[in-house]
Amino acid sequence: MRILVTGGAGFVGSHLIDRLMAEGQEVICLDNFYTGSKRNIIKWLDNPYFELIRHDITEPIRLEVDQVYHLACPASPVHYQYNPVKTVKTNVIGTLNMLGLAKRVKARFLLASTSEVYGDPDVHPQPEEYRGNVNPIGIRSCYDEGKRMAETLSFDYHRQNNVDIRVARIFNTYGSRMLENDGRVVSNFVAQALRGIPLTVYGEGSQTRSFCYVYDLVDGLMRLMNGDHIGPINLGNPDEYTILELAQKIQRMINPDAEIIYKPLPQDDPRQRQPDITKAKTLLGWQPTIPLEEGLKLTIDDFRDRLELTHQPLKS
Ligand code: NAD
Ligand code: UDP
Ligand code: UDP
Repeated sequence: MRILVTGGAGFVGSHLIDRLMAEGQEVICLDNFYTGSKRNIIKWLDNPYFELIRHDITEPIRLEVDQVYHLACPASPVHYQYNPVKTVKTNVIGTLNMLGLAKRVKARFLLASTSEVYGDPDVHPQPEEYRGNVNPIGIRSCYDEGKRMAETLSFDYHRQNNVDIRVARIFNTYGSRMLENDGRVVSNFVAQALRGIPLTVYGEGSQTRSFCYVYDLVDGLMRLMNGDHIGPINLGNPDEYTILELAQKIQRMINPDAEIIYKPLPQDDPRQRQPDITKAKTLLGWQPTIPLEEGLKLTIDDFRDRLELTHQPLKS
């Protein structure tokens, strides 16, 4: 099969490409390198079954493929808020173009949506039926409303044009190859502890998140793509932690003397988040297998290698 992965040079996309290439598929990676990096896919560049195209999905492109994994979109608040109008364009115009492509070539299309469509949820844990509590005019709206529109477009192309869609609602995912400066909580805490600088907990650290290791997530995405259910289906690890618990865990694992400091909570920061994965379990036979401690160890090893490679000062 020939498979298009948009955002394939990014964190999740590059792990997905590793799995698809290992399966013997032909892969086209489309990326504008906003948050992605060639380093993530460098090992495939000489492989005849792999093709890299530098392209911004807000512009149309014609390709012949059998499946589209549509991941292109910055995922970290720091990056998606840097140019919010561009984030909206990527989610709306970019998704429209990729759906237009899927329609033309009759490819199956999987949208990487997000738990952010639930906003600051007042139902806990969040099942797929929950319609969310989203601020349409806040600083996160370019991303969460953008993804809600991407879901709307996907379902309208499905109803109107018979595009064969799959929609995954991805919860917080972490692992190797996260950018050390992307501002997400796991990458921030790991990089801070390795550098010997204080871990920055926003607010009191009582807000919760549920963290899924990237290998588990990729397995869920592939099962969804190749299964019979269009979704939306939540993909995430239901083990929920407060942000302070996460900071303390990473502190213990890297440097028990590392300091924890408190910074203001960003606007509209969701108070709690935990996936209800009943659908993923029953419809896809999927559930996460990698516990937080184990996934953090893999992540820390990867960050340690990369921070040493870039000669950052280490004090641990
Ligand atoms: P990432 O920032 O590492 O990867 C996104 C990739 O998309 C990058 O390689 C970037 O260069 C590329 N990109 C961005 N805008 C583009 C554009 N206009 N044209 C072409 N390429 C573009 O993020 P990630 O964590 O790998 O996330 C991948 C997808 O999964 C995103 O759609 C994100 O919304 C979704 N998701 C991720 C998480 C998570 O915790 N990582 C959670 C929920 C949803
Ligand atoms: N599109 C694309 N590649 C394709 C087919 C379509 O980028 O192979 C774009 C097309 O340029 C348009 C969008 O996808 O902007 C939606 O396409 P569709 O055919 O649904 O709508 P139309 O072109 O009729 O507006
Ligand atoms: N967070 C934090 N310190 C950091 C980065 C993030 O306390 O250095 C908090 C953030 O306020 C949020 C949680 O950690 O409550 C998860 O943040 P992230 O940006 O990783 O993901 P999202 O908010 O999109 O779920």
